Amino acid sequence: MRRGLYSVLLVLVVAPATPAAEEPRLEEMRDKTVLLFTPHPDDDLFGAGGTIALLNRNHNKVFVCLYTNDDKGSYDLEMTSQRLARIRKAEEEAAEAELGTPKENLIWMGYDDGMLEYAPQPKLVEEATAIIRRIHPDALLSIDPGEWYQRWHKTDHRMASYNTIDAVRAAEFWLYFPNQLLERDLRPYKVPVMYFFYPSPQEANYWVTIDSVMDLKVDAATKHVSQFEPSIHKYRTDWDPADLARTKAGLEGEQPKKDGHYVEPFRRATEFNQF
Ligand SMILES: [Zn+2]
Repeated sequence: MRRGLYSVLLVLVVAPATPAAEEPRLEEMRDKTVLLFTPHPDDDLFGAGGTIALLNRNHNKVFVCLYTNDDKGSYDLEMTSQRLARIRKAEEEAAEAELGTPKENLIWMGYDDGMLEYAPQPKLVEEATAIIRRIHPDALLSIDPGEWYQRWHKTDHRMASYNTIDAVRAAEFWLYFPNQLLERDLRPYKVPVMYFFYPSPQEANYWVTIDSVMDLKVDAATKHVSQFEPSIHKYRTDWDPADLARTKAGLEGEQPKKDGHYVEPFRRATEFNQF
């Protein structure tokens, strides 16, 4: 009995995460709902911006949940956290609009930049669980907790990745946060498939070709003016044409390629790890 159970679990863990034949590829989904969790307003774009654009183009409903307000990452000594949070929110709305996501579909959890790991963890996972149970995503995208978890030296990336996968598990079992069902009629929900962006190269097992939306992705990235030089050192709202051209060329150069095509790599998974 015990041995049999282990065999089943082993199969679940080592089974290759190849899509079932009848399941459409992520970028070919239509009229579905997709929920993406991102630590900061820009990881959604860098990790999955092309995929988001393709999903929106295919009439899917894309929701982006942002853990933090990104109110610390500026070298400008005249910047304040309150002002930076406002700037980053406006930039995110503009970038996602470029990809086709309306700002009503952005869900701001509002935690301070760099402080996610120090937020009350039961509250954090309860909030993310409620969002999953409310949105009912047909596919969920998240930063990758990965096997190489120790590589995340950036606190919000660690915490967002772990918290999201914990919420995926909790959302499935109603006895986690039963008040959500009893008081808000948020029913338990099993996320059918997950795509983790920023996978380690060894673990990437799914690539979305984004050639047709690469220009859109680069344009959307440049909406995050305050994340780039020179604005990150001395805030300005616009681009000098030479800086803009240099930044766009840099973004194109950094985008992963596979077989001569621009791609976004993911680690696809259909079962959360029980161990
Ligand atoms: Zn980030």
